[in-house]
Amino acid sequence: MEKHDVVIIGGGIAGLTLAKFLAEYGIDFVLLEEHNGFFKKACGEGVTRYIMEYDFFDLYESRVGIEKEIYETIIYTKYGEISLYMPVLMTDKKKIEEELANQAIKRGADIRMGEKVIKIDRGNNFILKPQNIEAKLVVGADGFFSITRKLIGKKDLKYAIAVEGLSENIDKDNNKIHVEFKKSIVKYGYSWYFPKKEKWNIGVGSTSMKEFRKAFENFKKKHVVEKWKAGYVPVSKPVRPYGKNVLMLGDAASQTISSIGAGNMPSMICARIAADVIKKFDATEFRNMDTKEYEIALKPMTKMLNYEHSFYFFTTRIIRNEYLVYKILKKAVERASKYYKKLGKRD
Ligand SMILES: Cc1cc2nc3c(=O)[nH]c(=O)nc-3n(C[C@H](O)[C@H](O)[C@H](O)COP(=O)(O)OP(=O)(O)OC[C@H]3O[C@@H](n4cnc5c(N)ncnc54)[C@H](O)[C@@H]3O)c2cc1C
Repeated sequence: MEKHDVVIIGGGIAGLTLAKFLAEYGIDFVLLEEHNGFFKKACGEGVTRYIMEYDFFDLYESRVGIEKEIYETIIYTKYGEISLYMPVLMTDKKKIEEELANQAIKRGADIRMGEKVIKIDRGNNFILKPQNIEAKLVVGADGFFSITRKLIGKKDLKYAIAVEGLSENIDKDNNKIHVEFKKSIVKYGYSWYFPKKEKWNIGVGSTSMKEFRKAFENFKKKHVVEKWKAGYVPVSKPVRPYGKNVLMLGDAASQTISSIGAGNMPSMICARIAADVIKKFDATEFRNMDTKEYEIALKPMTKMLNYEHSFYFFTTRIIRNEYLVYKILKKAVERASKYYKKLGKRD
């Protein structure tokens, strides 16, 4: 039987970022991705450049797949426009994932495509089926429908359903992101217009399936799109991200900013943190590893994600009055703009 210290399940942005750093640390691992190519799921392809002390470019170390750098987001509400200063990178996410895989492979990573893990048997170590690979530590970076989350008995996640597609004819300023936060467009969610190099990534999402269906019907009538792609965005608080000899990463552990449905940069940061924890386990040859250390290392991230979750919950579920939501949003945006301006000054 093939044996490895670590197996990463899933080659999305979370698993690939982890692969890159584990390879850099010279840790013995294999990454298994079920598809034969990268980026098969729906995504708006925007990346929040900074979160806390992290800068996307320190994690990614390349400009491949970066299409635009945007600084201003206009939020359209029933009561007026709100301008948010926030550096966002618009990407070609397929290229980003391919580049992360290349960086990992250059550092010696073993990334295997077309390898779907169907079952994980528990013995002294884990055995992944049908690959028959034995692993001392399993990392579930396997997205919203994670089999790893089921393995450690965690509940299903709450979600928003969202759809996105590429469009050419959008009559808006293509140096800004545009977000419609209006109940007349969609309840319990928002629609977006993200400018890419030549096209736009546009979409709409909601935490209510009924409201999503209605909004998508209208959105479809308004816009010509090559192909719509739908997907789930976790909007639960981050779940406990570990079990015995298991860590979870990215959407699998609901490591998303639920107020805006952003998981790309949070997943990468959690991957960076996971790599350092795994490096510690590697130093003792994965004997007596305490996977709770990962949760402890994630604390500042989890605190921030929990805060964003409360904000999302408060402004969509508790407060129903649209004017009050506008006032709260305006204040929050002012605070966020100040924060990002200060962060940007570090460069
Ligand atoms: C419509 C939509 C728009 C979004 N827009 C944005 C945005 O603009 N900005 C942003 O930051 N976030 C956005 N998000 C969220 C973001 O896409 C996710 O948070 C992010 O992709 C999470 O990365 P991940 O690697 O954890 O999961 P995923 O990207 O889902 O990757 C998981 C990988 O695991 C593989 N896998 C799953 N099960 C198995 C298995 N059993 N065996 C082997 N492989 C397996 C899958 O094939 C996949 O490649 C959006 C989400 C949606 C649905």
